[in-house]
Amino acid sequence: MPATAERYEVELPCPRCRRTTVHLVTTADDALSRVMCIACGHAATVRTLQFMEQYVGGVVRRLLAKPSEITTEFARSPRDFVTSLPGRVLTKPFRVAAELRTTVDIIRPRRRPADRRVAPAPPAMPGELPAVARACRVLLSAPLLWAHPSEEILEIARALGYDGVELWAYQLVAEDADPSRLAARARSLGLELTLHALSWDLNPTSRIEPIREASMDALRRSVDLARRLGASVLVMHPGHTTVPHDAGEAYWPGLVTAVAELADAAGPELTVGVEHMEPRQAEYVVSPEHANRLVREVGRPNVGTVLDVAHIPWGQDEVVFLGHLDRMVHVHLSDADESRLHLPLGQGRRDLVRVLRALQEFRGAVAIEGFSISAGEELARWNKAQFEELWRAASLVEA
Ligand SMILES: [Zn+2]
Ligand SMILES: [Zn+2]
Repeated sequence: MPATAERYEVELPCPRCRRTTVHLVTTADDALSRVMCIACGHAATVRTLQFMEQYVGGVVRRLLAKPSEITTEFARSPRDFVTSLPGRVLTKPFRVAAELRTTVDIIRPRRRPADRRVAPAPPAMPGELPAVARACRVLLSAPLLWAHPSEEILEIARALGYDGVELWAYQLVAEDADPSRLAARARSLGLELTLHALSWDLNPTSRIEPIREASMDALRRSVDLARRLGASVLVMHPGHTTVPHDAGEAYWPGLVTAVAELADAAGPELTVGVEHMEPRQAEYVVSPEHANRLVREVGRPNVGTVLDVAHIPWGQDEVVFLGHLDRMVHVHLSDADESRLHLPLGQGRRDLVRVLRALQEFRGAVAIEGFSISAGEELARWNKAQFEELWRAASLVEA
């Protein structure tokens, strides 16, 4: 029976990052744990007991809390964590036990259970795990840090080891941000930028002319922002139908014209990526066939599709879906289940290891999406750590 994996965070110097970063410690079994830098993915196995003795005293910041709704598990976690440790830890010299006590706030460690399971087979020697290569860049989607100003978001993204940030035009407009200043800041931090165009309230294929025109103005403004940011990709939503039950067909010519105009305004340096939407009433760009048709009919080299993993209809095979996309230029990644979209990675029921396996050769950017209304980098940190874990697992799957 495999031991329950427990996770917690420790600040440690990372040999690859050459600075102190947050490391995710996963106790795989009684003897060995994996320690992974969430900034760069550098990982090593360590002997759990020795590691505990060395680090549990002061630097364990806290057990990794699951963001959002799954906090009950966190509340339960300290006790589980301690009782899942090898029995001998609790009988070790006082130092370890005392440190554990202060760290996880237990009053009395449980007695070693009588039915100790059989010791696992001898593990491999501790040591550095092979580095995991990736062709894509991992971006933090700004709404993961919604309460923070854009410049601060760049700094947090850098500290957490993201390769870039997907800024949201809505935020930039709301805070009256200076795009050239942000561009310079991103450059100095070595971050790639992409921009999510204004999308809420908009419909560039509306049958109501003032709404269509205002939507196009907002999208033109987004293109302009993206250019001034030096963004590599501008992400936009397609239009939807005005009359809820209309068939989409009549709206296609307007959509094709709109995207073509924006692509021409974007210029060759800026790719315009159009998202496929979740299949709900009024949306008419929801399948790979729709996405491919749009790219084909617009016929511009700088136009492609944004895969949004959350928008793949529940029950459809994600890998088949993305395999059908003719020109995938960008990815939005989040977890989902039957009823909820844009969940933190690992908290939904998507098979994300399989999705990332299919993205092993992808050379674009993958923006991790989600929404955190309250201040704090918890969700952004969680998602980066989960991404590194999932990517490592995906790289180990046989092709
Ligand atoms: Zn590192
Ligand atoms: Zn979007």
